[in-house]
Amino acid sequence: MAETDPSKVDPAETDPAAAGSVLDTDIEELPGVGARRAEPLRKAGVKTFRDLLRYYPRRYLDRSTVTPIRQITEAGPVTVVGVVTATGMIPGRGGRSRFELRVTDDSGGTLKCVWFRGANWIHRLYRKGDTFAFHGKVEKYGSQFSMAHPESDKLDDASAALTTGRIVPLYPGGAALEKVGLNSRTFRKLIYGLIKAHGLAIPEVLPASVRERYDLIPGNVALRAVHFPKDAAERGRAVRRLIFEEFFFLQLLLALTKGRQERRAGVVLDGLGHNARAFLDEVLPFELTGAQARVLDTVARDTASGRQMNRLVQGDVGSGKTVVGVAAMLMAIDAGYQASFMAPTEILTEQHYATIRRFLEPLGLKTHLLIGGQRKALREEILAEIADGTAHVVVGTHAIIEDKVAFQNLGLAVVDEQHRFGVVQRAKMFRKGQRPHVLMMTATPIPRSLAMTVYGDLDVSAIDELPAGRKPIDTRVYNEKRREEMLDFVKRQLREGRQAYVVYPLVEESESETLADVKDAETGAAELMEALRPYRVDLVHGRMLSYEKEEAMDRFKAGETDVLVATTVIEVGVDVPNATVMVIEHAERFGLSQLHQLRGRVGRGADQSFCFLMASYKRTADAEERLQAMADTTDGFEISEIDLRLRGAGDFFGTRQSGLPDLKIADVVRDAEILSEAREAAFAIAEADATLAAPELAAMREHFGRTAPKSLGF
Ligand code: ADP
Ligand code: MG
Repeated sequence: MAETDPSKVDPAETDPAAAGSVLDTDIEELPGVGARRAEPLRKAGVKTFRDLLRYYPRRYLDRSTVTPIRQITEAGPVTVVGVVTATGMIPGRGGRSRFELRVTDDSGGTLKCVWFRGANWIHRLYRKGDTFAFHGKVEKYGSQFSMAHPESDKLDDASAALTTGRIVPLYPGGAALEKVGLNSRTFRKLIYGLIKAHGLAIPEVLPASVRERYDLIPGNVALRAVHFPKDAAERGRAVRRLIFEEFFFLQLLLALTKGRQERRAGVVLDGLGHNARAFLDEVLPFELTGAQARVLDTVARDTASGRQMNRLVQGDVGSGKTVVGVAAMLMAIDAGYQASFMAPTEILTEQHYATIRRFLEPLGLKTHLLIGGQRKALREEILAEIADGTAHVVVGTHAIIEDKVAFQNLGLAVVDEQHRFGVVQRAKMFRKGQRPHVLMMTATPIPRSLAMTVYGDLDVSAIDELPAGRKPIDTRVYNEKRREEMLDFVKRQLREGRQAYVVYPLVEESESETLADVKDAETGAAELMEALRPYRVDLVHGRMLSYEKEEAMDRFKAGETDVLVATTVIEVGVDVPNATVMVIEHAERFGLSQLHQLRGRVGRGADQSFCFLMASYKRTADAEERLQAMADTTDGFEISEIDLRLRGAGDFFGTRQSGLPDLKIADVVRDAEILSEAREAAFAIAEADATLAAPELAAMREHFGRTAPKSLGF
């Protein structure tokens, strides 16, 4: 780079007053951007000059972070820098070509990079003789290492970039940006130009007291240094400051949300009344575990306090969360209120409806089901009985929180498998009417650091004990050669009167089922019908109509079918204690938490249960580790730790937690310590000054207002 060194720009020389408005300038106005580049930039979240300054490098290239190709000895993530020595399109099946290239570096090693998707335009980006940095996971195929879909950055010259001791920032990319020439090089130029033209007069958003206490460098210095660090030490300080800042504003959001909830008046319940007692003493065929009783005590205390309860109950699969939810609902009914029970899928909702109705009928209480697709007349009738108080309990999907549903006096709402809902949805959930107590339940135990953000607005309790007599599920990883053995085993279990599930994954990496997924399960079901004759095999998948799914589940529950072939629609919550075998096909394609949830469908009674993970020989190192973890432990907490390590926090945090601002630079796992500090700082401020009215908080308040999701109403 022939530019003057941007790390020399001195923030003190620039004028803060002029800067505020400049930062809000439309990105299109920046020299070098223009309309064509502005569009993909906006899509990437860069709408203004301010956003560009906060478009952080995803990685830095220097000698300590680059691996010589010859030194690659095992599968895993690496960065290599070298010259492209060969490129080529390789024709594949169905007219789909892949693009391959070879990169050779100073060590004399050569690595193959492959693109299966987007090959048709990607090949244009790489020319023989060009120098690139490639980053990705290498996998070993035969004796050769290769990298699929690496991130890449074009460099002027590898040796120059790395020998001058310079640190080269690499920016997040993607097809849309690269197509208009926005790569790391252009990002460096744009950001440099911005800092050079307008200086660094960026208002400090962290209060001075916080900066002092946690030893953080000024924000404007950090923003310059994160892009153009003088050295590794300065980069370290800049990154720490920006990570802290990101966590701080997220925690401030959670602190204020929690505070607002805690100050909210709640209806007063008075513990276990006669219905709740009758349920526990007469209806339930078993005693509560110590952990269940403890959580119920806490709920009784919360709901008697005069404040609205917002409690999350974490309990591993099979720990018995449903009965805790039912007992809590009965506390509300005993105090003269209605209660609701919400679940994320129709199959699970139907099942809960059947269970809960069975529990409540002997007590003379009325339970209603509310799901989409009910006949209009029936729905009207149900809504009328919810409104006039005839319905004591409503079990439903998110149909429950629709505006049209008006309760006469909803006192407590249970939300099952709540990890499917984010902070924003939660906050919106029960705003109307008399603001019921909310009891959320999740079977996804997550490490503490992650819980601080994902559940940071809630009170959390744990059911950390399984009902007595449960045996760990015997889990086996099999390949195709042992299919017969597995089938024989299943038949033996069926002969003893047990039932089995066989699950197929989603074929595509999509959230919902495709026709191909259904086809997979249908073919599987047909084959099993043959192989398992005379046992009865049934099929359930997400593309069936509600009543079809319901009937298939009912037949299985009633023991009219022996084997249920399913797509992942049965992933959560389904409870058929007589089922003792879970077969998971293509298990290498499932994520770890999904495998754990699926396996949790068996082992729900006193009988020994079994899980077969059918996996192909060819599997990645990650897949191997997932399968091994499943074979080694049935502890959900342990499994989630491993899952988090394998997937990274982004996956846990990003998509699932829709609604919260994305973390751009911080990583909940890697930066757990900074997270704790930022949380402490943010909660202290929110507690001392819930309206953030103090004058010294003005810049912080402004930044908060700009970044907090509008829907939370701050
Ligand atoms: P989860 O926590 O996964 O939602 P469920 O509430 O579905 O678990 O309970 C799993 C199974 O354990 C159910 O069949 C339920 O009836 C049973 N169960 C719940 N609590 C107890 C208990 N204290 N003793 C024995 N069985 C129980
Ligand atoms: Mg459950």
